[in-house]
Amino acid sequence: MSNEKKQLQLYLHLPFCQRKCNYCDFLSAPADESTKSNYILALQQEIRQKSAAYEAYSVPSIFIGGGTPSVYEGAVIARLLDVVADAFFLERDAEITIECNPGTLNQKKAAHYRQAGINRISLGLQSTQDCALRLLGRIHTFADFLRSYDAARKAGFDNLNVDLMSGLPGQQLIDWQDTLKKTVALRPEHISAYSLMIEEGTPFYERYASDEQRRAAGEEPLFLPSEDIEQQMYRYTGAYLAAHGYHRYEISNYAKPGYACFHNVGYWKRRNYLGLGLGSASLIENERFHNTAILTDYLKGRFEKEDSQKLSSKEQMEEFLFLGLRMTDGISIKEFYDQFRFPIDAFYAPVITALCRQGLLSREAGRLSLTEAGISLSNYVLAQFLLPDEA
Ligand code: SF4
Repeated sequence: MSNEKKQLQLYLHLPFCQRKCNYCDFLSAPADESTKSNYILALQQEIRQKSAAYEAYSVPSIFIGGGTPSVYEGAVIARLLDVVADAFFLERDAEITIECNPGTLNQKKAAHYRQAGINRISLGLQSTQDCALRLLGRIHTFADFLRSYDAARKAGFDNLNVDLMSGLPGQQLIDWQDTLKKTVALRPEHISAYSLMIEEGTPFYERYASDEQRRAAGEEPLFLPSEDIEQQMYRYTGAYLAAHGYHRYEISNYAKPGYACFHNVGYWKRRNYLGLGLGSASLIENERFHNTAILTDYLKGRFEKEDSQKLSSKEQMEEFLFLGLRMTDGISIKEFYDQFRFPIDAFYAPVITALCRQGLLSREAGRLSLTEAGISLSNYVLAQFLLPDEA
């Protein structure tokens, strides 16, 4: 660390997209140019207003997410980062990521982002098959992605993430293998590989929620891949990426050595982070809160904390485990003791013993971590660490 200050990660939310994807329930929507400009002004105001409370902190990472931050021109993002750098104590080697949608990132924009100090780009590809991209409602083709990827490399970005999504309607194992193969051939430093979630309130929910229920009931789904195919995709992902030099460091995240995303690791390790922008969430010194999710209120300057919740020790312990165990190197038993002044077994001995016996958890060299089998049943395993209310 470059100084004596405590660290505070920053997340900046830019909630606008060219078009809403069919599966997306994020806080994002299309907007006209004047709304987009007014939003940036409001965000700058929030940054200046809130920074005074964080003079004791330095900023090791900034994540500009969305939405599609790359709907904004390079100069707008550069100005936004200037405002952040004026308002906060930015560490010299800070990791600064921007999420970009292929089709909105060109050479000029990428070069501008690089000059502005951004050193990591995350590109949402999802699939290399154009028919799958159309089904998802994405605005881009695979060829568009290749152009954006190339633009980022030519602008000097040497830390690129590609987001991929498996479990798509109609997807076969061979389609997913093709997506992985073509992505790996480009040699990105980082790959995030998530499974499609069917979220309420989306067009996909209307179309596929009943199919998901069939699958959960053990029946053969009509459109979505079966449980069995999903498991095959999952296992193939780990093996294929490992064979090509990508280390899985979190359930869905893979990186070449030295390229794990510092910012995202911070979420799983429960570092302090401040969310700026519409609806963004924060965790500061064990207080969770978020901003208003109502755009008109945000544009009027309503930046107060909403639903502020000071976490109890029990909640902190639960988070420590179910977030920390998402990381493949798991959690340190000593660190648990240092934070909570209780041996982990005082609360969790029966759960740990049972999960170790089932082969889902491993206890080795002072650490607890999910096994391969535990990773594929991670929702079940992590839920076991929720303590009863009287604990
Ligand atoms: S581009 Fe991303 S944030 Fe925007 S609608 Fe699609 S999935 Fe959602």
